[in-house]
Amino acid sequence: MTDPKRIIIKNANLFQPQGWLSSATVEIEAGFIKSICSDDLFTLETSQNEKIIDAKGMAVIPGFVNGHTHLSQTFMRGLANGRPLLQWLRELIWPLQAEISVEEMQLAALLGLAENLRCGVTEVVDHHKITKTRNHTEAVQKAIETVGIRCVIARAWVNKGKNPENDQSILDELNDWYESNNSSEIVKYASGPLTPWRCSEDLLYRTHQLSLKHKSFTHIHVSETREEVQMSLDEYGVNPVKWLDQIGVLDSNSQIVHAVWVDEEEIELLATREATVVHCPISNAVLGSGVAPVRKFLDRNISIRLGSDGPASNDTQDCFENMKMAICLARATNQDANNISCRDALKMATSSNELIPGKKADLIFVDLENLHTMPVNDFDSALALCSKGDDVDTVIVAGEVLMQNKVILNLDENLLMKECNQAIKSLRKRVGID
Ligand SMILES: [Zn+2]
Repeated sequence: MTDPKRIIIKNANLFQPQGWLSSATVEIEAGFIKSICSDDLFTLETSQNEKIIDAKGMAVIPGFVNGHTHLSQTFMRGLANGRPLLQWLRELIWPLQAEISVEEMQLAALLGLAENLRCGVTEVVDHHKITKTRNHTEAVQKAIETVGIRCVIARAWVNKGKNPENDQSILDELNDWYESNNSSEIVKYASGPLTPWRCSEDLLYRTHQLSLKHKSFTHIHVSETREEVQMSLDEYGVNPVKWLDQIGVLDSNSQIVHAVWVDEEEIELLATREATVVHCPISNAVLGSGVAPVRKFLDRNISIRLGSDGPASNDTQDCFENMKMAICLARATNQDANNISCRDALKMATSSNELIPGKKADLIFVDLENLHTMPVNDFDSALALCSKGDDVDTVIVAGEVLMQNKVILNLDENLLMKECNQAIKSLRKRVGID
């Protein structure tokens, strides 16, 4: 198919910072939003190779940012089976991760990225745990280049506890990834220390400094369970967020994933250091970990993203489910129907990105003409409470159409599912899970 440099979207119900703009035209050129106006004010100057897309009956919104997942875990769906976090990790996830081959890693990543794309995700942070060879990481990179959505590979590492890595090799590899991918539009790298209790103070600080040098960030699981907070108190005498602050790893380039069990002092630290919290409501519920104090984060203007977390603990990557669960858990636990609004959830799911001229053209169309959404009395509610991943019709990333009329253009979904099924059977057999 042709690759037009210019896309005109007509008849859009357009998500805007202060509300909705109906019957809008969006003009995209060279990967960016060039102009937005009412349909009746737009005059098409006949030009070169433009693509015109009719968005009638659909909401046009910024693409979702899935702030935290583990793509390798697409092969581990549905295995939690009542296990809490630490037991689930030790008995299932870590043994499967230790066995996965390069080819299986690439298929698992393709499956996860395609699922994210189909659900309207234009950017994902993959907390990438399968780092036993660089080929495993390159396999993820190849999958990203095939699917075409933006992805940050937060290269996971541990240097304490079981199977620690060598400090210098972690630093060298991270530095190499940063230097070799500086100019990529869709593949970026970050440092992904697994948790405070598996990483040393010295290496957390040094990897964070290396990330700052390369304009990247640290992405780390923190205070997902009460047990982890107690471990920090036993070892360091302070809670995890406070400890990260004391060692110089809490700032605007820190992404704190989960933050379920944080006290008032830690919430204040997250706000004053301008750290980002990645809220994973479904994963926290599936593993029985708890509910993060999202209203308190919002009240202190803490930047919040939503994350699906890995498919082994969610078990899908559907950002609509995630939004609805974020709203429902917050309202139920606080017994307050106003605790989180649908607009709050949409902002968290889109990382507060905006569709305005000059911004990157990362946007999606969501079909609102179906039984579970009609009638659309309120767009925010229709999206945050009624819609599903399958309602996403079109996905555009950096001005390139990756999915249209619910068809992914860059890969054969049926072939991918067939190959994944064969690979999963082989992996389970080798690990002894049958
Ligand atoms: Zn995680």
